[in-house]
Amino acid sequence: MTKQNIETICVQGGYTPGNGEPRQIPIIQSTTFKYNTSEDMGKLFDLEASGYFYSRLQNPTCDAVAAKICALEGGAAAMLTSSGQAANFFALFNICTCGDHIVASSSIYGGTFNLIAVTLAKMGVEATFISPTASDAELDAAFRPNTKAVFGETIANPALTVLDIEKFAQAAHRHGVPLIVDNTFATPVNCQPIAWGADIVTHSTTKYMDGHGASIGGAIVDAGKFDWLAHADKFPGLCTPDDSYHGITYAEKFGKEHAFITKATAQLMRDFGSTQSPQNAFYVNLGLESLHVRVARHCENAQAVAEFLEQHPKVSCVHYCGLPSDPYHELAKKYLPQGSCGVVSFELTGGRQAAQVFMKQLKLAAIETHVADAHTCCLNPATSTHRQMTDEQLQVAGIPAGLVRLSCGLESKEDLIADLAQALEAVE
Ligand SMILES: *Cc1c(COP(=O)(O)O)cnc(C)c1O
Repeated sequence: MTKQNIETICVQGGYTPGNGEPRQIPIIQSTTFKYNTSEDMGKLFDLEASGYFYSRLQNPTCDAVAAKICALEGGAAAMLTSSGQAANFFALFNICTCGDHIVASSSIYGGTFNLIAVTLAKMGVEATFISPTASDAELDAAFRPNTKAVFGETIANPALTVLDIEKFAQAAHRHGVPLIVDNTFATPVNCQPIAWGADIVTHSTTKYMDGHGASIGGAIVDAGKFDWLAHADKFPGLCTPDDSYHGITYAEKFGKEHAFITKATAQLMRDFGSTQSPQNAFYVNLGLESLHVRVARHCENAQAVAEFLEQHPKVSCVHYCGLPSDPYHELAKKYLPQGSCGVVSFELTGGRQAAQVFMKQLKLAAIETHVADAHTCCLNPATSTHRQMTDEQLQVAGIPAGLVRLSCGLESKEDLIADLAQALEAVE
């Protein structure tokens, strides 16, 4: 069959029922799987045969949903994880260990920043953070002999910067390491980082993929293109025998296509157990079936809201790459030609006080520490996630006290704009 379009993969990818089988992906709510002989099961433990034995490592429902996400991203292999945090941790820890180093964009999700800057640092993995707009020379200067990966977000949460994926991929490859891209905000409907050179793509499926605020989850997709054996000295975990599996060498036994995901499943899932429940995977799949329809609508609403806010006298600044005035508009035209995401951030001229009055006045947009689901929600970092910081510290961190992050849901854009307009009226 010819390559399917993204809409078709959203609906039908990953699972094809046989004659008389369930139309919807079955929820295999079973911790374990039965075998007739110890020999049969032994082959699974030796990674000699593929199959299921315990749902901490693999489960058929999760694998079907992972296969759909893999197809959406144009990857070779994929796995689900319990959360987006687990996905980014596994993607990095699968190739980085004590004594290694990561180059990461400074414009990334706060949870991922903590993971890299604090937790991985405690485990002996150091990081250098660089601007998403770094030049080739600045990028090259960030690498060290022990650098093992480059990390960035297609559209950063919450800064809404756009990563120059091709430039970051080329820098990573010049230094013999893979580029890992968190594609949560763009989703594969709006951008497929693998097509621009990314090697590993991660997701918080909690956001648009689920899309209804129903289930926490994550995913990792491997493009299957990075040649681990060509850089064997850098990646001993993939290129030397694993004693915990009778000395198999992942990159030799499973090839470029499957080495990374097999190792992450067989080693990291086995040892850390950050598995997604089959029930959550089922919810994610329901979300995926309409992802292409919903994402387009989220973007349409956000574009209309951004245009309304930009011309409002009480709004000093709007961050949305769909606006021609946005510094990331040119990159967005290249990487996100169909739209970016439903999240818009903006600053009120009245600062912290105005933001509080404004948000209290909103009727449709709820105050939540969440983004990217059907319900519109908003957050003022200065009075919530970043409330320990002074106005001066906030300014330095690029999060002014009056900044509001608005995640446009799937309601009518006229109603959303009317809600914003009446709330802005109450502001000084
Ligand atoms: C939310 C988010 C995460 C973390 O995902 P969880 O599912 O909440 O663990 C990681 N990256 C990005 C870009 C996110 O928006």
